[in-house]
Amino acid sequence: MKRKHWFILIVLVIVVVSVFLGYKIAFEESTDDSSEEHTDIVPEESDNVSSEEPPSVVPEESPLPSEESADSFSEESTDDFSQKRMQMVELQLRGRDILNEKVLEVMGRVPRHKFVDESLWDEAYADHPLPIGEGQTISQPYVVALMTQALNLTGSEKVLEIGTGSGYQAAVLAEIVEEVYTVEIREKLAEMAENSLSNLGYTNVYVQSSDGYFGWEEQAPYDAIMITCAVNHIPPPLISQLKEGGRLILPLGPTTYYQALTLLQKTDEGLSSDYITSVLFVPMIGEALED
Ligand code: SAH
Repeated sequence: MKRKHWFILIVLVIVVVSVFLGYKIAFEESTDDSSEEHTDIVPEESDNVSSEEPPSVVPEESPLPSEESADSFSEESTDDFSQKRMQMVELQLRGRDILNEKVLEVMGRVPRHKFVDESLWDEAYADHPLPIGEGQTISQPYVVALMTQALNLTGSEKVLEIGTGSGYQAAVLAEIVEEVYTVEIREKLAEMAENSLSNLGYTNVYVQSSDGYFGWEEQAPYDAIMITCAVNHIPPPLISQLKEGGRLILPLGPTTYYQALTLLQKTDEGLSSDYITSVLFVPMIGEALED
């Protein structure tokens, strides 16, 4: 009898100990699982976020506004604005002498209205310049297209723009080339343009507020340069920041009257020059006005 009791007691102890151990192992496994899941999911999620977003629409500093604007951008591609953009492309651009398909395609896509005050959205695709504040204007769509087409861009270029204004011309360039550096002398406009560009997700446009007469030396040389304010002479720093073989387009002439839209090409023998048409741009201020 005594031995039987001992036997039952030992069996009971074994059962209790193994149940306890089994439970402990199962519990530790389940907590291990959850912590593994946690560390795995975080990098996976962040990987997905960056790989899903195309580089041209990944904002550097504010992912949220750009996602919002990307949404509204795609909504708009089927609304009034996309229709107006298409009409602008067909009537004002292709209907004249803009034949470069890439320029036409890009201008049919970039939401020009997002670069002007909301009160002007209805006019954003009309055939004329619009005010952007500080007495400055966003150029007529045709002039933007004409100047872009004249640079004969292939896609791999680094371009310098002088006169950021609203940022619209910079956006059009950024859709075509690798990198756009743009200089605006009026700080408030530079800030506004930077906001518009980053809200639309552009990460290959760099805005600087300074006197564009001196270009953007640190980033030189450039494959192409576009000046979007009138000058009565070619700023020498810009010529030296242009690569050999590179093109420079500018409104050249009296800053109070019409200028000659001029295309220059830098060759080993100097600058070749072609007259395109006559245009009316706001003057370049700062050093350009000194004697
Ligand atoms: N490209 C612009 C329109 C240009 S309007 C757009 O797409 O909206 C001309 C711009 O040149 C104005 O914003 C004006 O402030 C700027 N500007 C004038 N002088 C300048 C200078 N010295 N350096 C840089 N920008 C200048």
